[in-house]
Amino acid sequence: MSDISAEAAASPKAGASPEAGGIAAEAAAAFAEAYGGQPAGLWAAPGRVNLIGEHTDYNDGFVLPFALPQRTVAAAGPSPDGTFSICSTLAPEPVTFGLETAPGEVTGWGAYVAGVVWALRDAGFEPPAARLAIASDVPLGSGLSSSAALESAVLTALVELGGLDVPLERRPAIAQRAENLYVGAPTGILDQSASIRCEAGKALFLDCRSYAVEQIPFDLAAAGLAILVINSNAPHQHVDGEYGARRKSCEESAAILGVPALRDVGVPELPAALDRLGDEVLRKRTRHIVTENQRVLDTVELLRAGRVREIGPLLTASHASMRDDFEITVAQVDVGVESALAAGAHGARMTGGGFGGCVLALIDADRAEATAAAVAGAYAERGFAAPTSWVATAGPGAGRLR
Ligand code: ADP
Ligand code: MG
Repeated sequence: MSDISAEAAASPKAGASPEAGGIAAEAAAAFAEAYGGQPAGLWAAPGRVNLIGEHTDYNDGFVLPFALPQRTVAAAGPSPDGTFSICSTLAPEPVTFGLETAPGEVTGWGAYVAGVVWALRDAGFEPPAARLAIASDVPLGSGLSSSAALESAVLTALVELGGLDVPLERRPAIAQRAENLYVGAPTGILDQSASIRCEAGKALFLDCRSYAVEQIPFDLAAAGLAILVINSNAPHQHVDGEYGARRKSCEESAAILGVPALRDVGVPELPAALDRLGDEVLRKRTRHIVTENQRVLDTVELLRAGRVREIGPLLTASHASMRDDFEITVAQVDVGVESALAAGAHGARMTGGGFGGCVLALIDADRAEATAAAVAGAYAERGFAAPTSWVATAGPGAGRLR
C-alpha cells in the first residue's frame, strides 16, 4: 500500500525534537495553505520500534514496542459543509469524501484517513465532519509504522474534536479495522496499540489476545545504554504477499494443533507440536512464534528487574529466528545485525514486519557513532545503498499538542 514513495517522505530526522515543533508547524501551515485560517487543534501520534515480539500479534501473542520521538501531526478543524477534506505535506491537493464513506471509495494514502472515519462509524461513534492537514517525520515504508501513526493521529483528532467517548483501550482496534478493512492490509494490533498506548520512557508490554497492557520501565540512559536504529533503506519487496503467507501458515498450524492460536502453544509443548505438524515450513513458522512469545516474556522479566543489558542475547536470538525459521529478513538487515554485533552491540535484531526495514541494536551509550560507522562500512563493502542510523528514545503516545 506504499503509494507514496519512501523518497518522497522526509528522511528520519536524527534527534527529532520531542516537541515535534517543526512538524507541528508544518501541519498548521499546510492547514492554512489548503483551507485558509487556523486549525482548531493539533494532534500527534508516533511511529514505533518493536523491541521484541515479531509477527506474534496476529497469533494472539505478546509484543513489546516503544514509541519513537518521530511522529505524525494532524491539524484539524470543523468542516463548513459536512464533508471531510484531507491533505498531507506529501500530497498537498485535498481529497474529499462524505461521512458515509465505505471501503473502496477512497484509495491511495487517503484510505488510511477515510478508513478511520468509516471504522469509527462502524463501531457506533459519529465522528465530526472535519478538515485535516497531515505532516510527519516518521519515515514511510521503513517498518516504523507511519501508517499507524497516520491512523492514530487522525483518530485522536476526530475523537477529541467531536468529544466522542471512545475509551483508550478500544482505539487501537478501531484504527486497525481501518487498515484491515478499508485500506485492505491484513496487519495485527501491534502498530496502532504502540502509537496510541505507549508512554514516554516506557516499553509497552501488550497481550494481543486480551489487549491488557503493562508499562515496563525502559530507562536505557540510566544503564549507560542506548538503542541505535539502523534503517537499512533496502527496497521493500513482496511485503504484502509474504505477510499474508506467514499469517496463513500460522493459522494452518494452529488449526492442525487444535488450538485457537499459536499463542496457546508454550515452549514445553513445542517438541510434540512440531512432531504433529510434519510439514517443514509449518514447523519453522510455528517454532518462531512459540519461541518469540517466550523471548518477549523473558525480556519483560529482565526489564522489570532492571537487568537491561541482559536482554541483548534475546534480541539476537529473535533475529536468528526471524532469519532462519520465519524467513522474513533480507541481506541488508542480516548484515546490519552482524556488523552491529561485531562492533560490540550487546544484541541486535530486525524490527518490523520484515523484507527490508530497520534493525535495532542495544549498545553502550557512547558507541552510537562507532556502531553506525561500522554498519555503514559493511554496507559500502557489499555495494548496498547507505543505511541511516540514529539513537531512539522512548517518546509519548498519541495526544493533543495544542
Ligand atoms: P509503514 O507503516 O511501515 O511506514 P506502510 O506501507 O504500512 O509502511 O504505510 C505507508 C503508507 O502510509 C504510505 O504509502 C502512505 O499511503 C501512508 N502515509 C503514511 N504517512 C503519511 C503521510 N504523512 N502523508 C500521507 N500518507 C502517509
Ligand atoms: Mg504500516
